[in-house]
Amino acid sequence: MIPAPQELGTPARGGLSDTVTAFKDGVRFRCTRCGACCASLGRDLPLLIDDVRRLARHLSMTVPAFVRRYCVYTVDVVRDGDRTIRIPSLHLRVPPSGRCVFLADSNECSVQDVKPFICANSPFMRYVAVSRERWHAAVSMCPGIGIGRFHSGRAIERLLRQDDAAERRDVGRILAAGGSLARVLGVRLTKPVIRRTIRRTNARRSSPRVACR
Ligand code: SF4
Ligand code: SF4
Repeated sequence: MIPAPQELGTPARGGLSDTVTAFKDGVRFRCTRCGACCASLGRDLPLLIDDVRRLARHLSMTVPAFVRRYCVYTVDVVRDGDRTIRIPSLHLRVPPSGRCVFLADSNECSVQDVKPFICANSPFMRYVAVSRERWHAAVSMCPGIGIGRFHSGRAIERLLRQDDAAERRDVGRILAAGGSLARVLGVRLTKPVIRRTIRRTNARRSSPRVACR
């Protein structure tokens, strides 16, 4: 997969109008499992709540133990007009080498069947879809783009919508727990890494009207 920032917003809701041209025209893609992208991650990988639970179960770990060992607790502080929204999440910690901790010596993913959503759906993700630069970076790194099965624009749009829905589901869960990600997961989370501040200018891409902590 291609390293991603935690993006908020919903470009997929407007169909493919905000996406790179390649996504509208359709893309051939087959992961050759070369491991190139997993060996050169530029940053920690965002995890969905279900990713955390699934990976912990797969590794026969409790969720708190998995979080302690593998995760970074982050809070994205989003400036949206005159509001500030704090959105908590967990990221898979990537070592300074950039090599994913789940990448085996054989260069295959050791959690292939339960890998994070972002890995499973890459490169058809919103953070790629909205940036020509990210798409070009993906093309230059990944030998799987341009070969294999043809993914039509409509099929890619469905994946982008899944991406959007997954994030909204997490936000809904956190809100239902009083804004606490720690409560959702039954873990203790302290001292978050404040990732960045995003200033929203496009109303259609604004995050859900919520405030989490
Ligand atoms: S083919 Fe592409 S997506 Fe698959 S492992 Fe290699 S670089 Fe990553
Ligand atoms: S979890 Fe697997 S697919 Fe995802 S970056 Fe790590 S090795 Fe690659």
